[in-house]
Amino acid sequence: MLTGKRALVTGSTRGLGQAIARALAGEGCDVMLNGFGDAADIEGDRAALEAETGVRVRYHGGDLATEEGADALADAAMAAFGSVDILVNNAVIRHFHAAEDFPRAEWRKALAVNLSAPFYLIQRVLPGMRAGGWGRIVNIASVMGLAARAGRADYITAKTGLIGLTRAIAAETRLDANVTCNAICPGSVLTPNTEIKIAEFIAESGLPREEAVAEFLRMRGQAMGFIQPERVAKLAVFLCQDSSFDMTGAVMPIDQGRSATWLEQD
Ligand code: NAD
Repeated sequence: MLTGKRALVTGSTRGLGQAIARALAGEGCDVMLNGFGDAADIEGDRAALEAETGVRVRYHGGDLATEEGADALADAAMAAFGSVDILVNNAVIRHFHAAEDFPRAEWRKALAVNLSAPFYLIQRVLPGMRAGGWGRIVNIASVMGLAARAGRADYITAKTGLIGLTRAIAAETRLDANVTCNAICPGSVLTPNTEIKIAEFIAESGLPREEAVAEFLRMRGQAMGFIQPERVAKLAVFLCQDSSFDMTGAVMPIDQGRSATWLEQD
């Protein structure tokens, strides 16, 4: 259990971030939610999670595309709970363009949300973790931080950078602080964003859903189906427990062996 710990999970209004926030709350952590969405839905989910788990669940809509938004989110979490013991950098935006056609405003925004915001949040919460003698930072990267696919320059660059940031923070904390910093690299996870991609693929291919899903997964080398958000959340919870103390600077694929077998997929 993580009773009494205080967590900040970015991009937790849906998808994987929501699953991680739910899992941490289930372990007894107070949780600060963040992300966009319909205000009434967010409040409904927040109140339900609080009622279900008995921990404090708060929400702050800090926009991680801006430095001010990231700072305001970290400050709100520290003000609400007194400190942040667990930071999960999960929020994401994605664009799809060839490099030569990539709008620079989208490039800047992707790097801001997907890479700079995690750095600013770490800067803000790390002193409190050091002072409290305990901290866990989990960065949600991707298999696309380990290898590339065409048309995803912003995402691949940011996720590769996030893995570097993970190692850099581990290097700065490993000798003198009970703080760990690790990265998780999921393969294809079934989240609302993935549902949108499947719907687009069905429209493009004209295939019935079952065949389209099978082809979608085949193209990604995931024969065993989608990765469930709850299974990634369990790994995140493990990385937040005392028993994972010896792991820091680690980069963990959870991808049904995709990244271990790129050559087989050629
Ligand atoms: P998603 O698109 O469903 O959710 C993203 C979340 O980030 C939402 O809550 C959204 O509101 C929030 N967000 C977006 N822009 C923001 C901003 N400017 N400020 C604050 N919050 C913002 O994403 P997902 O599919 O659940 O993915 C979650 C994480 O897992 C991401 O880091 C993603 O890269 C990683 N991942 C996902 C998959 C997958 O297949 N879904 C695969 C590998 C890695």
